[in-house]
Amino acid sequence: MIKVNDNFRQLPSIYLFTKISRRLAEYRENPDSIPLIRMDIGDISGPLPESASEAMHKAVDDLSGSKDFKGYGPEQGYAFLRDVIAEKDYKERGIDIKPSEIFVSDGAKCDLGNLGDILSKDLVIAVMNPAYPAYIDDNVIDGRAGILEGDIYSEIIYLPCKADNSFYPELPEKHADIIYLCSPNNPTGSTMVKSELEKWVKYAQKEGSLIIFDSAYESYIRDESLPRSIYEIPGSREVAIEVRSFSKTGGFTGVRCGYTVVPGTLKGVYANGEEVKLNSLWSRRQTTKFNGASYVSQRGAEALYSQKGREEVKKMTDRYLANAAMLREFFHKAGWKVCGGENSPYVWAGSPRGMKSTEIFEMLLTKCGVSTTPGSGFGSEGEGFIRLTGFNTAENTMEAIRRMEKILQSEK
Ligand SMILES: *Cc1c(COP(=O)(O)O)cnc(C)c1O
Repeated sequence: MIKVNDNFRQLPSIYLFTKISRRLAEYRENPDSIPLIRMDIGDISGPLPESASEAMHKAVDDLSGSKDFKGYGPEQGYAFLRDVIAEKDYKERGIDIKPSEIFVSDGAKCDLGNLGDILSKDLVIAVMNPAYPAYIDDNVIDGRAGILEGDIYSEIIYLPCKADNSFYPELPEKHADIIYLCSPNNPTGSTMVKSELEKWVKYAQKEGSLIIFDSAYESYIRDESLPRSIYEIPGSREVAIEVRSFSKTGGFTGVRCGYTVVPGTLKGVYANGEEVKLNSLWSRRQTTKFNGASYVSQRGAEALYSQKGREEVKKMTDRYLANAAMLREFFHKAGWKVCGGENSPYVWAGSPRGMKSTEIFEMLLTKCGVSTTPGSGFGSEGEGFIRLTGFNTAENTMEAIRRMEKILQSEK
């Protein structure tokens, strides 16, 4: 039989999240259950912005005629999209990013995993605790995580994010080569202020580290003083890669389109001491293993930058933000520890009585018919918290709050 990648053995075989979805299925099958309201949705509830939908219909028409037919596109993405990204996401905000530094893809999750291809396998990685699970799992598959002991990997540096510090990650005491930062954060909803990001850029400069900055939720930022891009920080062009997605911005979770910025000024070194641009390596990697995002998706993404598209994106994200704000307000009033719900569609809530994540999950499910995500599934520091999202409708969010009101009163 064929030998397989042994690193897969180090992945947790049964996710807390798998158990949770089984529990929800069981709940739904029970005829005595209160109808379920999902406050755990990590996906946009649709529909697509009209501007994107129209542009994609038009793109299909292009492909259906011989005049405007498109076959393989450029691996790095069509210039029409890279140009508008450079202009609207960066230049308009005073940030220096060129179209040649932008790589369009079929989503942020793939890029986050694929970036491991251009980096040495023996690097030490640091991740926020709690964090989006892909950062760790990608590195487990690549062999950078070490051995799983309980729920801790021997070679990973965990950066605790605690309530008393706005859930910002703490600088590590040891040297980290790759640092994953996500802001606005999934799951905590915390958004890093400029001085926090500056601290990390300085650390990376001093240590010769690489920051991988995930800003999948930048379009939820309303406070203009908060950085939307790591490239707002001086010196970051030499130390950071930025990963972005149209999924949570334009409701593209099913369409699939995102992009990664690898500045031309970011350098790495081969084992023999020879220097190389990460931009060249990533380009080599993408041209070898990727044939570009679909023409249709890229036309859809381009439309999100039109006047109409921008208004629609604002309207959609405003709607999710309003739901998240209601949840934030509710938990705050109930005396819970709470983060997010501002500049983020996520709300992170912790019981004042020290209940465990799965206990809160079970209480809200059985007593209120409200599903949430146990915080402990995102890392040990997530214990005692649950994650809720603004992605359901306003009506359902209000109904969930009504149901939770009585229960939380008695829990207080
Ligand atoms: C949803 C999400 C992504 C990725 O999304 P794609 O749909 O693959 O573009 C990346 N990072 C975080 C933190 C997310 O929540």
